[in-house]
Amino acid sequence: MKKRSLFGMLTLLFLGLLFLQPASAQEGQKDNPFFQTRITPFQVPPFDKIQKEHYLPAFKEGIRREQAEIDTITANPQVPSFANTIAAMDHSGIFLNDVSAVFYALLGAETNSDLQTIAREAAPLLSAHSDNINLNEKLFARVKAVYDRRQNLKLTTEESFLLENTFRKFIRSGALLDAAQKTRLRDLNQQLSLLGLKFGENLLAETNASRITIENREDLAGLPESVVTMGADTAKQLNLPGKWVYTVQVPSMTPFLQYSKQRPLREQLHRAYFMRGDRDNANDNKEIVKKIVTLRAERAQLLGYPTHAHFVLEENMAKTPDTVNAFLKRLWTPALERAKNEAAEMQAIIDREKSGFGLASWDWWYYAEKLRQEKYAFDDSALRPYFALENVKKGIFVLCEKLYGLRFVEVKNLPLYHQEVQVYEVREGSGSHLGLLFMDFHPRPGKRGGAWSGGLRREYYENGKRVAPISTLVCNFTRPTADSPSLLSIDEVSTFFHEFGHSLNTLLANAIYRSRNVPRDAVELPSQIMENWALEPALLALYARHYQTGAVIPVSLVQKLKASSLFNQGFETVEYLAASILDMSWHTLSGGENIDVRQFESNVMTAIGLIPAIIPRYRTTYFNHMISGYSAGYYSYIWAGVLDKDAYEAFKEKGIFNRATAKLFRKNILEKLGTEDTMTLYKRFRGAEPKLEPLLKSRGLLPEIK
Ligand SMILES: [Zn+2]
Repeated sequence: MKKRSLFGMLTLLFLGLLFLQPASAQEGQKDNPFFQTRITPFQVPPFDKIQKEHYLPAFKEGIRREQAEIDTITANPQVPSFANTIAAMDHSGIFLNDVSAVFYALLGAETNSDLQTIAREAAPLLSAHSDNINLNEKLFARVKAVYDRRQNLKLTTEESFLLENTFRKFIRSGALLDAAQKTRLRDLNQQLSLLGLKFGENLLAETNASRITIENREDLAGLPESVVTMGADTAKQLNLPGKWVYTVQVPSMTPFLQYSKQRPLREQLHRAYFMRGDRDNANDNKEIVKKIVTLRAERAQLLGYPTHAHFVLEENMAKTPDTVNAFLKRLWTPALERAKNEAAEMQAIIDREKSGFGLASWDWWYYAEKLRQEKYAFDDSALRPYFALENVKKGIFVLCEKLYGLRFVEVKNLPLYHQEVQVYEVREGSGSHLGLLFMDFHPRPGKRGGAWSGGLRREYYENGKRVAPISTLVCNFTRPTADSPSLLSIDEVSTFFHEFGHSLNTLLANAIYRSRNVPRDAVELPSQIMENWALEPALLALYARHYQTGAVIPVSLVQKLKASSLFNQGFETVEYLAASILDMSWHTLSGGENIDVRQFESNVMTAIGLIPAIIPRYRTTYFNHMISGYSAGYYSYIWAGVLDKDAYEAFKEKGIFNRATAKLFRKNILEKLGTEDTMTLYKRFRGAEPKLEPLLKSRGLLPEIK
């Protein structure tokens, strides 16, 4: 996933404004690190000095400064030009972005009730501020004046693209509405910003409260020793010594579901997971989702679109809900067929064991593991020792060196927001500085679930000099235990490669302006393509070493891994597509006030024929993607799958470490995404539009593939 990224840095532009402030305002700013020039190495945020009371004054000052910058632009007596309007806007709000980048990074990775309170206070201020800019008539008039003359201006490709996107952003933000409509729009934006926060708070509270506690050893039947140790460690952290606790965090829940022989406990844990936000308690998210969906629909209609999905998709490669729905349907039928076959194979095991029950959602992982052992003679826990976190990290570094000639140098003694964070400097092969990468690997109670890459500073050029970006990579990977380092599952290995791809996109970016306009359904291209390398035998040989013996992963195990690459793909694709369809269903409604959430969900799933043993990857009440940045956009992962599988074919054709192919990918995609039309960039890399077949093949959805 990629979290909404808010970047920023200080710039000379503001120095003049500092002198305009009243003395009293400067007083309260004396000890606030956000107001001081950064003297930290690489100008990283001074996390050690930032206190909770610093945020709100800094947010307010950031808003004030950006408004002043906008006022300077609109008051300019000169004829509106690209430089004095579009480029000036691109360079505004850097102070505010700086504050936001730090605050939202922490709100995701290391939150607490103080930060949540600040987030609630800041949300309406930021929402109003962004409306003040987007609905500023003088500003829009200037943008339009430049836009109307665009044919006569000698603009670069990046500038033309920025101009068009800036103009369209105003239209999409309500610039053409009348006064009463604008007032209503502001109100909707305010309400939505707060509802989104509330959804996230409820979800975090529910996630932290959902777990099972085991008191008797016999209830651990089937669990490998490492999973038992992990349960004991978790119990200790919760002050429950002598017991075992399994939470709904993926590194804890998945192994339990895979191995526990206690079916009632599997059910208990899985229910704890999939009922989050749907327990009719204080953290219930049903009413919140209904409100969000309703207000989003109203906003879309106000702006002239039939539904929220129409509004969102206009900006994406897919363009319309019809295209997305047809695309999802094209994949759904063969994927469901495959999943049904997988379910039948598992039911056969249940019947053979005379267990006398039908496969349920809490059984899937358990019987999938049995099936894998039966078919391919290895299990997940046999692989983990070869995927110690440190080795996987080195593997990714080696890959980036082979492809792009990059070097990674650990930087110590930087101010951090948590002691577990590791920082690397990323350098070109020549030694020149490219940027910094903050990595934060393990779950904590203050961390949102999942994995994401974000940014503390965005790349752009200031007076002809590249401003180096700072990327963050945040995951919830298996923790080290008392007797072993962090040993990753294959899924976690993929996730690491994935998020690293997002970070590479941030770190290698090479554009003049700060603004990027990447279609949501292309965002996952740089990340997903990285997953293709993770299990390539030629790369495994370089990094997958046993954490105790140092032995390289045996060829036989690699062959089994490869042979099993299509294993469980029916399930994976179906649970993902079901969630994508759920997201599209919510956002193609014209309103949602009178809907029963559970009933709606169940109707959508019945209509597509989802089998009861599978539930959507995310149910409505914990579907964070759908609420936070991927509304009518969860389909993007598989849409980008078409791009990444086709792009990876280019590497397979010329060799997976081919430097020339890598260079083309870097120059056109990693450096330029968001600064020019995506398909144009893609074709420049690949020489043609992407084909669907490589994706279908990779998921076993082509009839001729066994
Ligand atoms: Zn992603």
